Amino acid sequence: MIDRFMELAIEEARQGRKEGGIPIGSVLVKEGIVLGKGHNRRVQEQDPVAHAEIDCLRRAGRIGNYSNTTLYSTLMPCYLCAGAVVQFEIKRVVVGESKTFPGARVFMEAHGVEVVDLDLTECKELMEEFINNNQQLWNEDIGVAP
Ligand SMILES: [Zn+2]
Repeated sequence: MIDRFMELAIEEARQGRKEGGIPIGSVLVKEGIVLGKGHNRRVQEQDPVAHAEIDCLRRAGRIGNYSNTTLYSTLMPCYLCAGAVVQFEIKRVVVGESKTFPGARVFMEAHGVEVVDLDLTECKELMEEFINNNQQLWNEDIGVAP
């Protein structure tokens, strides 16, 4: 049985895919309460920094203090999103997988963030399906030259 917050992040990822975007979802949780949910909207909004985690933090709004928050993401955060995690002192990040993209795990851990990788087949399949069908779009997202 998958963590219920990760289930919400996966729902967000699926929503993003339905919109024609990149299937990555994120949820911000504090003491069992969902503060915000988001998904990658780079394609939908033509916004290169609209990553799932950033979208989630935006939608959570100005919560002030990030102590005791956990950021869930269906995929290991990239350096952009890991930078936000470190900047806001989010101490715990739970991810769906890191096989399709290794992300910035080492960077976050070097800054004292606890990173938990659930290594979920469901999350890997979401990304594999997307990457196989949209190689160019994916490369653009992670900053790889065409
Ligand atoms: Zn990112």
